[in-house]
Amino acid sequence: MLAVKTSDGISPKARALHFRSIVVDTHDDTTQRMLDPKFDLGVRHADGNVDIPRMREGGLGAIFFSIWIPGTITGPAAVQKALEQISAVRRQVADHPRDLVLATTAADVRSAFVAHKIAVLMGVEGGHMMNGDLEALRNFAALGVRYMTLTHMLNVPWADASTDTPAHNGLTDFGRQVIREMNRLGMIVDISHVADKTFYDVLATSEAPVIASHSSCRALCNAPRNMTDQMIRDLAAKGGVIQINYHIGFLSQEFRDAEKANPQLEKDIDVEMKKRCGEVEACQLLEKERLIRELVRQGKLPRVNWTRIIDHIDHAVKIAGADHVGLGSDFDGANMPYGMDDASHVPQITNALLEKGYSESDIQKILGGNTLRVMEQVEAAAKRLGGHP
Ligand SMILES: [Zn+2]
Repeated sequence: MLAVKTSDGISPKARALHFRSIVVDTHDDTTQRMLDPKFDLGVRHADGNVDIPRMREGGLGAIFFSIWIPGTITGPAAVQKALEQISAVRRQVADHPRDLVLATTAADVRSAFVAHKIAVLMGVEGGHMMNGDLEALRNFAALGVRYMTLTHMLNVPWADASTDTPAHNGLTDFGRQVIREMNRLGMIVDISHVADKTFYDVLATSEAPVIASHSSCRALCNAPRNMTDQMIRDLAAKGGVIQINYHIGFLSQEFRDAEKANPQLEKDIDVEMKKRCGEVEACQLLEKERLIRELVRQGKLPRVNWTRIIDHIDHAVKIAGADHVGLGSDFDGANMPYGMDDASHVPQITNALLEKGYSESDIQKILGGNTLRVMEQVEAAAKRLGGHP
């Protein structure tokens, strides 16, 4: 067993359960940091949320690194940049063969766990990166990408996003073709970020269960990026999983209201962030976190505690059952609540769920079992459809 150094307050029972479970995180933006050739995932960093030492401390068994560029970058440049990020992830895996292994199936994840390695997977966050070309999608799949989030913040030419003005009434005919091709390729369809109508069009089209790789509950925090109770139920009815996002703006209504009440704050943060970082995404994320925490210290924004994550998990479980909830942190891509400062804190989730009276088997499903089940179902559908995962 590896040396464990997590925060205090975790019972021996919770620790033992956590470290014998395959913990899967379906959304992580550390890829942006990997674009800096000097960034080494193998050493512990004072900033950010994820590196190998902290994944080990947090008992992460599998992590989906996100391939992401802003939706404003389109055309062949978008495909090119996605390929560069895929290479950056693959390079980190190649550089750390003792700790990491590239995984493309649930079976790969399970064998990585047995070999005491962290399974690295990839998800493309935004359909704009395939540039309307199914061949680009096939190429992503061949390089190991195992899910695609259909949109990011902006609509794509074939699907509406939750944070843009509706333009397609959900999915277009080509959008439906994309879903069918993803089913054939064994790529999980990810409905985080998409408009509610797009979500329902996806449910009607997909031959396999789908995921919300990093979304939380709208009943607890009314953000368009979160899912309504009915959506969570309908996702579950198709066998899917909602992986709860740890971002404070999706966890806490109080935080959202405070931001809304003072729009100037957000503008000031943006200006200061750009002043410090230009357009470098990895830097912007780190600086934004610093600026928000400063405003919290000054009492201008509310302090959001990590236990809000547990509230969202518990709500989703009450709505859809323990077979349909998972973890999708958004580490290194969002603003983390106090007490979930990085990946080393993840065992707290196991501890809190045990304290709440959850059974060990339900906790193991939430930690990763449900995501692995969806992967297996997506792989089986691909076989049935004559493709190959
Ligand atoms: Zn996202």
